[in-house]
Amino acid sequence: MNRVEVKESNVCLKRIEEKCINCGICLKTCKSTNNIENDCINCGQCILSCPTGALIPKYDYRQVLNYINDTNFIVVVFVAPAVRVAIGDAFGYEPGEFLEGKLVSALKKIGFDFVFDTTFGADLTIMEESHELIDRIKNKQTPMFTSCCPSWVLYLKKYHPDLIKNLSSCKSPIAMQGTMIKSYFADMYNINKEKIISVSLTPCISKKYERTLYPDTDIVITTSELILMVKELGIDFKNLENSEFDKLLGKGSGGGLIFGVSGGVMESTLRTAYYMINKEKAPDNFYNLQEIRGEKDIKEAIVDMKEFKLKIGVFSKVSTVEKYLSRIKEYDFIEVMSCPGGCIGGGGQPLVAINNLTNIREKRINSIYNDDRGLKIKESYMNPEIRDAYDCYINKKNVELHTNHKN
Ligand code: SF4
Ligand code: SF4
Repeated sequence: MNRVEVKESNVCLKRIEEKCINCGICLKTCKSTNNIENDCINCGQCILSCPTGALIPKYDYRQVLNYINDTNFIVVVFVAPAVRVAIGDAFGYEPGEFLEGKLVSALKKIGFDFVFDTTFGADLTIMEESHELIDRIKNKQTPMFTSCCPSWVLYLKKYHPDLIKNLSSCKSPIAMQGTMIKSYFADMYNINKEKIISVSLTPCISKKYERTLYPDTDIVITTSELILMVKELGIDFKNLENSEFDKLLGKGSGGGLIFGVSGGVMESTLRTAYYMINKEKAPDNFYNLQEIRGEKDIKEAIVDMKEFKLKIGVFSKVSTVEKYLSRIKEYDFIEVMSCPGGCIGGGGQPLVAINNLTNIREKRINSIYNDDRGLKIKESYMNPEIRDAYDCYINKKNVELHTNHKN
């Protein structure tokens, strides 16, 4: 076969046969990113590489519009970090422009009842993952792999089930936020959770598959689907005022924001883990870990946690991890993202000229780090909404923020 196989049952992407010229580029991309042949793990890199637009995400946005038009439902959207630095591509902005305020306004104009930031869910993940990392180090159960990329988790389960024990038990930020919307948010606002439709807006097509495992998130739409919604509804994106996220599960910390780039989950977890271990703020270099920033396929460092040193590895693309598998025991903590550069390079991002993709990804990465630099709160444990959520809810109720990957 010359091209990637897209099964009818695939919930993440589809092929428009009339547009396919059988060039084989999708298959080459798949092999170089994932190291496997014709066994889709849903990363969607083939979509970004297809020269004719024959591969597209499976569109779910019409279902969202139907719920918005039905007054029986409260429709809540939450926005992943990488969307805000890519949406401008479709509206004539320079690549990487940080458009959070206009994005929130566009979502309110579309008619969502509440607009939250998935950086809240990312902060929650960091809190849980930092505790888990510390426990695993004490109990000598390292290395620990991050678990927020569903394509990576699926790959690991399929091809290296012996390593499932090394996967963090944390749900992904989107799955955690979905759970918090159906529990914490529903209870605080006294809304019957059956009436809530939770919509995750993300750069990632793989989250459409992840949602089938964690159904507290009802629908997943991509950046490219949001662009279609804005255009179909005739919203003048460029002339929108800036708005802010709604409170309760609103904006997260800088640590939550940098989840959108390769190395970000690692850097933000270390900021919080350092604080949890030493009861003091991490040193300045934890706020600019150059060794693990940028788009290289493998980045590594030894980090001084004061009580001990940690060897960390950051991998982009599962094909990279595959090459280094014999060495993984050398590491204490390993981040893996299936897409080059992390989620800013996800398969649900707007299409751009393929020969400019690396340059555009770099601009998105710089834009995310630039906003982190400007934020007052850069650590998940300092986010007041996270503190409130633990104090008034998570510590008192049985909220499922972890999962059993074997299941
Ligand atoms: S890259 Fe696009 S056009 Fe080329 S074979 Fe794949 S689906 Fe068809
Ligand atoms: S790296 Fe991000 S965008 Fe790509 S598959 Fe993983 S979670 Fe999705």
